[in-house]
Amino acid sequence: MKRTDSFLASSAIRARSPLILLLLLGMVLLAFALYNTARMQAMERIREQADANLSRYIVSLQYQLDRHRDLPRLLANQQQLINLLEHPDDAQSIDIANRYLAWVNTTMGATDSYVLGTDGMTLAASNWEQPHSFIGNDYSFRPYFQQAMEGGAGRYFALGNTSRVRGYFFSYPVLQAGQIIGVAVVKVDLEDIEEDWSDPSQDILVMDEDGVIFISTRAYWRFRTLGYLPETGRSTVRQSYGNHEPQLRQDRPPGSPQAGWLNELDIARITASRRYGQAPLLPLDIIRRELTEQGDLLLTLVDTPDTTSRRLSGRAGQYLLQSRLLPDAGMRVAVLASLRPLQSSLFKTLGLGLTFYLILAALVLFFSARHRMKQHHQAELKQAHEALEQRVRLRTRELTDANQRLQQEIEQHHQTQNQLIQTAKLAVLGQLSAGINHELSQPITAIRHFADNGRKLLTRGKNESVATNLTEIAGLADRMASILQPLREFARPHQETGRGVNLQHLRQGVMVIMGGQLEQQQASIIWPEGLESLWVAGDIGRLEQVLVNLISNALQAMAGQPSPRIEITLDSHPQWVRLSVCDQGPGLSPEALAHVFEPFYTTKPTGMGLGLSISHRIVHSLDGRLEAANHPQGGALFTLTLPSLSPQEHS
Ligand code: ADP
Repeated sequence: MKRTDSFLASSAIRARSPLILLLLLGMVLLAFALYNTARMQAMERIREQADANLSRYIVSLQYQLDRHRDLPRLLANQQQLINLLEHPDDAQSIDIANRYLAWVNTTMGATDSYVLGTDGMTLAASNWEQPHSFIGNDYSFRPYFQQAMEGGAGRYFALGNTSRVRGYFFSYPVLQAGQIIGVAVVKVDLEDIEEDWSDPSQDILVMDEDGVIFISTRAYWRFRTLGYLPETGRSTVRQSYGNHEPQLRQDRPPGSPQAGWLNELDIARITASRRYGQAPLLPLDIIRRELTEQGDLLLTLVDTPDTTSRRLSGRAGQYLLQSRLLPDAGMRVAVLASLRPLQSSLFKTLGLGLTFYLILAALVLFFSARHRMKQHHQAELKQAHEALEQRVRLRTRELTDANQRLQQEIEQHHQTQNQLIQTAKLAVLGQLSAGINHELSQPITAIRHFADNGRKLLTRGKNESVATNLTEIAGLADRMASILQPLREFARPHQETGRGVNLQHLRQGVMVIMGGQLEQQQASIIWPEGLESLWVAGDIGRLEQVLVNLISNALQAMAGQPSPRIEITLDSHPQWVRLSVCDQGPGLSPEALAHVFEPFYTTKPTGMGLGLSISHRIVHSLDGRLEAANHPQGGALFTLTLPSLSPQEHS
């Protein structure tokens, strides 16, 4: 049984395995499609957000810078400053210039404003009163000084040499009679812009031409280098740096994480410019750079700093980098958008999609299993139905055959029974002929006597007496005819029930038949009174046959007795009549009581055992009953019950 179960189970799995494989393939494809679509959509969202952040930041930065861009130019035309530059040692001019610069600085909201001489020395400054005043400082090394000295507007960002605050410097030459006599400088603090930044998943970086980060929303990325950045994304505006276009670093292959990083010479040059003080200008801990098909630059970098080791330690994250050049300002602004939200949204979408798919797949499997079971069940039912039909057909055929055989047997039985009745009748006929012989011998002798006597009377001429004799002869002939009547009735084969039988007529017929035997055995029959008024259904021939049978059996049972006696009693009812035949013989043994009405049951050496069985059948066919019993005072008691007829029915 177990083996069958496991066989069924394994065959079911085998039958379902293509479906399972299909579902698995579907799951893989769905996961792939979901992953790609969700990733593309999430990337698009991040890209858009980065782009918006970048634009917003650039606008804000640009605004901050634009506010002060033309201020040095304005200052360069101020008489107070020209006076100072013409008389750099005049204390009053210095004082006026200082105060003026302080006033302009406060009014315009700049961080610092100052004036340099042609040698780069600070002659006047807005912070002249403060402890770390610029006055007396030499800024000839600053590019913005050099740019102004070349006759143009200068701009530069750097870490403040004295203040240590990052700032953007605007400069403009102060001209007098076509000669550059000094440089006006305005410094704008850029620290605030970082602090206003509010998007935690995206960081802002501002880099110089060398790729050195000098503004970053993450403090530990400041003064580190990002290296070469290709122009990426839709938001990138291809603009030129003009004079300050950064040299692309190609020392290392572009695909490598170190591509475009500064070499020692660059670092020495930048350090010498004192732009970022003594900052070591280490590269960011970039593990991998990749340029996607959509043109996105993806960076994998260590973004959780580990202060104990110098590089490539801590936790790494993947970032989408969007950057844009600000050629006028000589800087590049970039947004580093973390892809961590992308991963979680991807997992969420994948999780949801696959859960839905698994539910769907489970439903598909469930319904396919149910369908299969139903089919299996239906096939079993059909098989059982066919087997049943086959059995029914077989059984029906057997029954039809048996029925046919039974019909034939019944037919044969019927014929046999009719033959037997006829045979038994003939047997009774023997008895009847003996009776008739006995009955007729007396009238014949009487006729003979009347005939002889009549002849003698004729010779004597006594005609009257002859007539009397002839009347007697005619009477005797009638009597003989009536004696022969039962013989005709008896010889006739049995017919349908007649119009009814009068019990007195029945008695007469029986007595004629049995007369000889009764006389021979010196036996007597006691008949009841009132038979002439009673009629029963049936025909006289068959009823005589029944009574003759009962009486002759009784006589046989009493054979040897000196004067055997048979008593017949009557019991009548509107619907039936009962005749009981009682003898004084030995009665019926229990075995005989059980079998007397069965054909061929006999206890007599020469008996046929048919008399009672035929009688029983005759009575039954007349809707009557024939029962056997023993009389309480000894002897057998046969009771014949027949339906009675009213006078209207028999007339
Ligand atoms: P048969 O007379 O040829 O034996 P029956 O059918 O008439 O056949 O009777 C069957 C048997 O019933 C008889 O052999 C006898 O044993 C028993 N039997 C019938 N009538 C009587 C009776 N009046 N007294 C005792 N036995 C009887």
